[in-house]
Amino acid sequence: MYRTHTCGALRITDKGSEVCLAGWVQRLRKLGGMTFIDLRDRYGITQLVIEEQAPVDLHHTVDLLGREFVIQAKGKVLERSNKNTKIDTGEIEIAVSELVILNAAQTPPFTIEDETDGGEELRAVYRYLDLRRNPLKRAIMLRHTMAHEVRNYLSGQRFLEIETPVLIKSTPEGARDFVVPSRMNLGQFYALPQSPQTFKQLLMVAGYDRYFQIVRCFRDEDLRADRQPEFTQIDCEMAFVEREDVLNTFEGLAKHLFKSVLCDYMGHGQHPRFSQPFPRMSYADALRYYGTDKPDIRFEMKICDLTSLAQGHGFGVFDSADYVGGICAKDAADYTRKQLDELTEWVKRPQIGAKGLVYVRITSEGIKSSVDKFYTPELLQQWATQMGAVEGDLMLVLCGDVKKTQEALGALRLEMGNRLGLRKKEDYAPLWVYDFPLLEWDDETQRFYAMHHPFTSPKPEDLAKFCSNGKEDLKQVCANAYDFVINGVEIGGGSIRIHDTEVQKRMFEVLGFSQADADYRFGFIINAFKYGAPPHGGIAFGFDRWCAVFGGSESIRDYIAFPKNNSGRDMMLDAPSYIDAAQMKELALESTAVGKS
Ligand code: ASP
Repeated sequence: MYRTHTCGALRITDKGSEVCLAGWVQRLRKLGGMTFIDLRDRYGITQLVIEEQAPVDLHHTVDLLGREFVIQAKGKVLERSNKNTKIDTGEIEIAVSELVILNAAQTPPFTIEDETDGGEELRAVYRYLDLRRNPLKRAIMLRHTMAHEVRNYLSGQRFLEIETPVLIKSTPEGARDFVVPSRMNLGQFYALPQSPQTFKQLLMVAGYDRYFQIVRCFRDEDLRADRQPEFTQIDCEMAFVEREDVLNTFEGLAKHLFKSVLCDYMGHGQHPRFSQPFPRMSYADALRYYGTDKPDIRFEMKICDLTSLAQGHGFGVFDSADYVGGICAKDAADYTRKQLDELTEWVKRPQIGAKGLVYVRITSEGIKSSVDKFYTPELLQQWATQMGAVEGDLMLVLCGDVKKTQEALGALRLEMGNRLGLRKKEDYAPLWVYDFPLLEWDDETQRFYAMHHPFTSPKPEDLAKFCSNGKEDLKQVCANAYDFVINGVEIGGGSIRIHDTEVQKRMFEVLGFSQADADYRFGFIINAFKYGAPPHGGIAFGFDRWCAVFGGSESIRDYIAFPKNNSGRDMMLDAPSYIDAAQMKELALESTAVGKS
C-alpha cells in the first residue's frame, strides 16, 4: 500500500497514529538540524518534519530531494507547535521515520504555487505541471461537480444520456467544419460535429423523448478571445413540448446548479434570484434597454430614448441623428473633468465607435452639461425625469444610428457598471431572452442566413409572413428561440424545432438551398421527418463557460484540462502538426508541406 492517507486528510484527532503518505515535494526548508517538507497531492498539503535526531540515512535521503520529487513518507502524527490556520492539516505534522524517493524530478520550469512565476505560454507547454496548482485544481474539480450535478438532475427528470457520433457529415451551426479525410473512401471527408443538432432531433423521431449529452463540439472559427475550437455543451432535446415547457425544465436545471454547485459546493449564499422565476426579456427589449442580446441585469442603468426630447433645440449633432439615447449613472455627478474626458476617449475607440459623449451632471448647484449652450436647465430636467435621474447622478448621452448607438450605450453601461462596482463578482443574475429574429439578411451575399440554425421554427403566429416572398416580411419573422444568460454571458440557447416537412422545405428555400443541395446535405433528416416526427425543442448550454461563470473567471481556458491557445494550438502537444508523406499519400492528399514531414 503506497499510502494510508492523502495529504489533505490528517487532523489533530489523528495525533499519535502511524501513517504513510505519498506525494510531491512542494517545498523544503532547513531550520537548524531539522528539515521541513511540504508534501502535496490533489487533496492538500501536509507538513513532514525530519528531526535532528533522525537516523543519518534519513538525512542523506533528504539531502537528495528537490522540488517536485515524488516521495513516500512513513511516520507519526504530531501536534504542531506552530499551527497554520490557513490549511486543513495545519494543526499536525508527520515526524518522518522512513522516506522513499519514488521518482526524482527535474526542477520545474516555473514554481508550482498559487501565485506562479511562469508566463502563460510556458505554463501551456507544461500544462500537466500547471494542473498541479491550486487555482487550476479548483477549476477542474468545479467542472467535475457541475457535470455530476447536471447528470443527477437530468437523470432525475427522466432524461437519457445518449452518445452521438463524432465522425459525421457537416452540421448546420454556421461555422466552418473541421474535417477528417476518409482512407477507405478516398476523396471523401467526415466532418466533426459543430453540435449534435441533427442527431438529437433524430432521437426525438426515434421516440427517446428526453435526451441529453455532455458532449464535445468542434467549430473551426477564427478564434476570438474566449473561444476554443473544441468545447463542451450540455446538449438537450425534448419531444411533445412548447417553449414554456423547455424554459421551465431548464430553469429547473439552472436552479439546481445554483443550489448544489454555487451554494452547497462553492459556499456562496443563497440569493433570492435563484428561487424566484427567472426574468424574461424579448430580444427587442434587450437591444432597446441594454444595447445587447445578452444583458447583464445585476444592475439597472437602462438605456433611455431621448430622441424626441433632445431634437429641435439647435444642436445640429443631435438634430441630424436617427437616435439620441442615454444612461444614468447613479451617484456619479462628482465625476471629474478628467474622468469625463477619459470616458469620452473610451467611447470614441473604434470598438465602441461613438463620435463623442455628452454629459449632464445633476448637482446641488443645479444641472450642468457639456451642451448648456443649446439646452436650458429646464430642458435638461426633462431628460432627467425621463431617465429617473436625481441629484447626484450623471447622465451620459450618445447619438447616431439606432442600433449602433444602442450598442455603444450598452458597452458604456457595462463600463460604468464596472467603474461603479455594480457588477459584483459574487452576484449571479440569470435571464431568458426570447423572440429573436429567425433570419438575418446579408447584404454582401444578398441572402438570408438562419440566425440560430435552419431547424429553428418560426413562431406559429409568424408562419404566414414566413411563407410570403417579401424580404421585409421575412426580416420580421420571429424565431421560436431563446437564450439563457447569466451576468451578461450567453450560457445557452435553443429553440422549438420545425417538425413539419413542408415548413422545413420552405426554410431551406428561404436560405437559398436548391432542392438538390438540401437533399444532399440534409436528406436524412428531411426523410426522417416523413416517418412521424413529434413536436420537439431543446437547448444547449456552453458547459465550459457555465463552469467559468460559476468559478468567477472571465476565461473558459482554466476550466478545460488541456485547452488550446488563441491561435487554436495545443502548445503542449505542439499540434496541429504535419503528417508524414506516406500518410498523406494514403489519404490521397496533396502535400502542402514538402520537406516538413
Ligand atoms: N445546436 C444548438 C447550438 O449548438 C443548440 C440548440 O438549438 O439546441 O447552438
